[in-house]
Amino acid sequence: CGICGVVGLRHATPIVFEGLRRLEYRGYDSAGIATLVEGRVERRRAAGKLDNLGALLDKEPLAGTTGIGHTRWATHGAPTTCNAHPHGTERVAIVHNGIIENFEELRRELEAAGQVFSTETDSETIAQLVDYHLAQGLTPKDAALAALRRLEGAYAIAMIFAGHEGLMIGACHSAPLAVGYGDNEMFLGSDSLALAPLTRRITYMEDGDCVVITPQGAAFMTFDGTAVQRKEQTTALAA
Ligand code: GLU
Repeated sequence: CGICGVVGLRHATPIVFEGLRRLEYRGYDSAGIATLVEGRVERRRAAGKLDNLGALLDKEPLAGTTGIGHTRWATHGAPTTCNAHPHGTERVAIVHNGIIENFEELRRELEAAGQVFSTETDSETIAQLVDYHLAQGLTPKDAALAALRRLEGAYAIAMIFAGHEGLMIGACHSAPLAVGYGDNEMFLGSDSLALAPLTRRITYMEDGDCVVITPQGAAFMTFDGTAVQRKEQTTALAA
């Protein structure tokens, strides 16, 4: 239901957590954050209120400067900790808003190819599809694009990749996603509100956009990899 992500130099978890706070108004049933810790994907997830995730993070802190977070409003799979986002494998973590309409077909295909699922969600299909392509030797960008070309439905997605500090890939189709520009740090959010205290410099992504983000900037492209230019806007001064 809500997405927030950051790549930069600062500790990612508190930035993402505050972003999720500002997305609480959308409603949600569980929440989670994934970061890269020494190149590995690490996750913390909790059913229920953000305070539950906060308590977990107090007990088991999550280091790292590359991170994505999610507040979930379950559509496929019960609102449990296991089904909470981020979903992932050793290679990739993803968060997803919306619905993947063809997830059953994709899941059957991926399971036949040897991918092992651990949740009931439509969203995990995205992680497994990207993981499958990474395992074939594709770069994160090419694996993401190959996966995006297979997805049907409405979605906003953020992804991070093991071994790729400072890289975040976003994509959207019939669901909103905004890129925020900082000073040697960059953000992704479901809306400008999620990013309000972080930056006023925003690009709203268009349907069918993928974005490759590093702390220095963002490169926009279509799902076939063709570069596109997207305008940066300055949002009204926010709280
Ligand atoms: N369909 C996904 C799920 O049930 C995402 C729901 C959402 O937008 O929060 O996990």
